[in-house]
Formats: sequence, structure tokens, C-alpha cells
Amino acid sequence: MNFELTEELQLIKDTAKSFADEVVAPTAAARDKEHRFPLDEFKRSAELGFAGMLVPEEYGGSELGALVLTIVIEEISRACASTGVTLSVHNSLVCSPILRHGTEEQRKELLPRLASGEWLGAYALSEADAGSDAAALRCRATRDGDDWILDGPKLWITSGDSADFFVVFARAEEGVTAFMVEATAPGFSVGKVEQKLGIRSSSTVEILLDKVRVSANRVLGAVGKGLNIAFDTLDGGRIGIAAQAVGITQACLDASIKYAQEREQFGRPLARFQAVQWKVAQMSADLAAARLATQRAAWLRDQGKPHTLEASQAKLLASTLSNRAANEAVQIHGGAGYTTEFPVERYFRDARITEIYEGTTEIQRLVIARNLFGR
Ligand SMILES: Cc1cc2nc3c(=O)[nH]c(=O)nc-3n(C[C@H](O)[C@H](O)[C@H](O)COP(=O)(O)OP(=O)(O)OC[C@H]3O[C@@H](n4cnc5c(N)ncnc54)[C@H](O)[C@@H]3O)c2cc1C
Repeated sequence: MNFELTEELQLIKDTAKSFADEVVAPTAAARDKEHRFPLDEFKRSAELGFAGMLVPEEYGGSELGALVLTIVIEEISRACASTGVTLSVHNSLVCSPILRHGTEEQRKELLPRLASGEWLGAYALSEADAGSDAAALRCRATRDGDDWILDGPKLWITSGDSADFFVVFARAEEGVTAFMVEATAPGFSVGKVEQKLGIRSSSTVEILLDKVRVSANRVLGAVGKGLNIAFDTLDGGRIGIAAQAVGITQACLDASIKYAQEREQFGRPLARFQAVQWKVAQMSADLAAARLATQRAAWLRDQGKPHTLEASQAKLLASTLSNRAANEAVQIHGGAGYTTEFPVERYFRDARITEIYEGTTEIQRLVIARNLFGR
């Protein structure tokens, strides 16, 4: 076992860090305040190969793999969790299922446009009455000759008002089926735009499918097997969200160490008080555990080994620990931490979503327990 990054991985990490510090971080607070989508940041990240991290070179990707993806998403989320989730969804929830379940023709046609950043991707599984219980989805898919007609709203779609290309799950007679739909398709439109507590630079919208015609070559995988694709895809997506949470935790730790050394009370820096030291020490131990769990799950996925259990463990750990870290980071900053003068209030709001999307904390526990009890 070797935990050291290879020279090549270190180089990619350094590239992601510079990109996060120089391109993403400077606009993060303003984008959050203005609810401005990081489209420019996404396009620029594509120039570094970050829009096609899971895509092989033969389809125009950078073929970095899931483990490297966690390193890149962590670095970017450290600067801006909204940009982090934009990239995570695009890579893990859109490129990945096409690669894993698409036909050779679909891979050749679609992946180069996604991996180059020409297209931004989104993933439309959830509906108003199908959140944790995704299998209850009701968006309809009916055959019309060789084509399909999709009908019904999808809710909570990350990047939905900026995305060009969607993986959409709908219910056919044979069962839930995955389809690939372009935003320009007649009958496809954006509905309600959510106003959120955090990740405000990411957009979350309702997608309306009003008799959208989809040709047979845009069915992803087998008809009726969409839920298998949805859950296999979420195993990968959860690793990305765990990496996002690790990035937020690192940001909390960095901000807390800096502030505790600068701020003085009772004639000495906060960093000299044991109560503050212990908070920072706990945060750093939590960070180490969450990062290792995340990277291990990603490594298993890269090896083609079972990783459903490990992906849920990583997401559960990383998301709950990032919320603890964000809470303590605000506490260490005192009143200042409760204001927009310091970034920790944004980390606090952003951390919250990591316990909700791509399966809530409760659903991760359910998945873990099912694996442990063999059900
Ligand atoms: C900002 C944001 C972005 C999102 N992006 C996307 C996206 O891009 N694509 C997409 O398809 N979806 C997306 N979602 C949807 C997200 O995945 C769901 O919100 C999530 O799965 C929870 O579903 P729900 O909101 O319907 O909550 P519910 O399922 O109603 O859950 C409410 C509460 O009940 C608990 N609960 C539910 N069932 C059980 C159970 N069996 N046992 C124990 N507790 C349970 C939950 O854990 C939770 O605490 C996004 C959501 C948000 C908020």
C-alpha cells in the first residue's frame, strides 16, 4: 500500500489548486451573493481537462479517473462548493453513465462534446414525490413509432438552467428508463428556480418536459433498466459529493487556523487557548478520516471493484464531518463568523447540502446497513 501521490498526480493536484486559488476563489463570494452560475469557471476548467476527468482520451477526455477526480473536486470545492458540484455532476452523473452504459456510437457522438466543455451536463432523476424514493418517479415515457415521448416535470436539477445536455429518467411500460435529452429539444423548458440556503452560485431548477420527442438512439442502456443506471451512477456521484465536503472541511480548517492566529483576546491570540486548539485538532482529524474514506471509495471504483458500501460510507462521513467543521469554524470566528465579512458563513451554508443531495444522510445509513446485513 502506498499513500504517496505520484509525480503526475501531484502535478494535477497543483494545477487544480492554482486554478482554484486564481480563477475560482476570487469570484466565489460575489457569485454566491449574486446567485451567479460559474459557467465561465466551468469552461475554463474544461481547458485543463476537468470536464472530462472520467472520459478516456479516445473520446476526448483527460482519463484522470475517479481518484484524481476527488482530488480536483476537493481543491475546487475548497474555493467554491458551487463550482465543485457543477463539475461533480457534469463528470460523475453525466459523462460517467454514458461511458459505463452507453453504446459505442453514443460514446463517440456525445462524450467529446461533454469532455471538451462545449456542453454542460445535468442529471434529472428527482421529482416532487420522488426524492429519497427515486423509484417512485412518474415522468412518463411512451413509444411513438421508433421514437419516445417524455412527459412530466423533474425537480431539483443542478445546473438545469445552464446545461445543454440532460440524462433524464422516465417511466416506460417496461419500467424506469434513462434517456439523453438536449436542452434545445422542442417541449423542453426550465420551470421554477429554487432560492437556496447555500451553494447559491450553483443553480437548482425544475425541468418541464412537455411531450419531448426523443429518438431511439438516445435511450441510455436497456429499456426498463434505468434504475440500475441511476443507482450505479449515484455510487460515483456520492464520491464526488464526499470530495466536495472534504474541500469545504479543508477550507474551514484553513480559515480557522488563520483567524485563531490573528485574533487576540485576553492579551493573546485565540490559538493559545486550549479550547480553540482542540476544535482545530478535531477538525484536522475529521478531515484526514473523510479524505481517506473518499479516496478509497474512488480507488475501488477505478479498479472496477464493488464500492456501493464504501461510497455511502465516504459520503456519510465527509458530509457530517464537514457540517461539524463548518459549525466550529463559525464558532472560532465568534461574531465575525456570523457575518459575510468572513467566508466561514458561506462554508456553513454550503456544507449543509452535502447531507441532503445524492442521497440524504439517512439514505446513506440505509445503503450501508443493507450492505452489512446482505439485503
Ligand atoms: C440543492 C439541491 C440540488 C439537487 N440536485 C439534484 C440533481 O441534480 N438531480 C436530481 O435528480 N436531484 C437533485 N436533488 C434532489 C435530492 O437528491 C433530493 O432532495 C434528496 O434525494 C432528498 O429527497 P427529498 O428532498 O424529496 O427529501 P425526502 O425524500 O422527502 O426526505 C425528507 C427526509 O426524510 C428522510 N427519509 C426519507 N425516506 C427515509 C427512509 N426510508 N428512512 C429514513 N429517513 C428517510 C430523509 O433522509 C430526509 O431527512 C437536489 C436537491 C437539492 C436540495
